[in-house]
Amino acid sequence: MTGLYRRDFIEMPELPEVETTLRGIEPSLLHQEVRKIVVRNASLRWPVPDEVNRAAGTTVSRCWRRAKYLLIEMEGAKGGLLIHLGMSGSLRICAVDDEPQKHDHVDIVLDNGQCIRFNDPRRFGVFTWWDQPADQNPLLRNLGPEPLSDKFSGNHLRSRSRGRKGAVKNFIMDGKIVVGVGNIYASEALFMAGIHPSRPAGRISAARYDALCCAIRDVLERAIRRGGTTLRDFHGSDGNPGYFAQELLVYGRESLPCFRCGTGIRKKVIGQRSSFFCPACQR
Ligand SMILES: [Zn+2]
Repeated sequence: MTGLYRRDFIEMPELPEVETTLRGIEPSLLHQEVRKIVVRNASLRWPVPDEVNRAAGTTVSRCWRRAKYLLIEMEGAKGGLLIHLGMSGSLRICAVDDEPQKHDHVDIVLDNGQCIRFNDPRRFGVFTWWDQPADQNPLLRNLGPEPLSDKFSGNHLRSRSRGRKGAVKNFIMDGKIVVGVGNIYASEALFMAGIHPSRPAGRISAARYDALCCAIRDVLERAIRRGGTTLRDFHGSDGNPGYFAQELLVYGRESLPCFRCGTGIRKKVIGQRSSFFCPACQR
């Protein structure tokens, strides 16, 4: 930790890490034939089902992300592989005959001799098969808009917040409202927009929700850009998930001076999560 910014490793993969993972593995997966799926340890958050073997002998037609889920679609199949990195998961690209390391639970073995390896020390991750269209999948169908899409706007936040008395921080962290705004990013975006994290969601003006929407996009886009330039190489076997080092404005900076006004940053537990804010700049 330096005197100014707290440079820290994010505690678990958030939307920017998942987006960067997608961009890292997609070129190696797309249009490749899957030879087989190797499951060394099936006891993840949910048991890895036998259905994942349906991927064998098929060709990857599309890789995409919805919230923090990675979806790998197979040509001719209705569904595909669905992966969630949980609290500590990561994917890396290696050669099929590279020696598996500790916590390397599942491999997607490709016909070209490469392999996408899923590592997850805490095993809260998900590696499963989905066979409905994505919009009918129970894990995906009730999710709010993607924060970087056109469907997300200040107007959306304002209209969904009317009549809500709960704290705005919990509101923007609710995946039914908008996906991918984790605890750290919520604190940072609220600081940037000058909104107190405990303010009732229903009592925020349209203009302030516009500012909050911009702040959420900005903080996520910056993290993705940073990931694109500083994240580990997806090729190799360093076994380090390498979540982003962030320069944080308020998160983790309790008692340190606010960058805008010098007032001491405060910490408060809201919805069972630590929230950091400037009592002078945020109201
Ligand atoms: Zn301040």
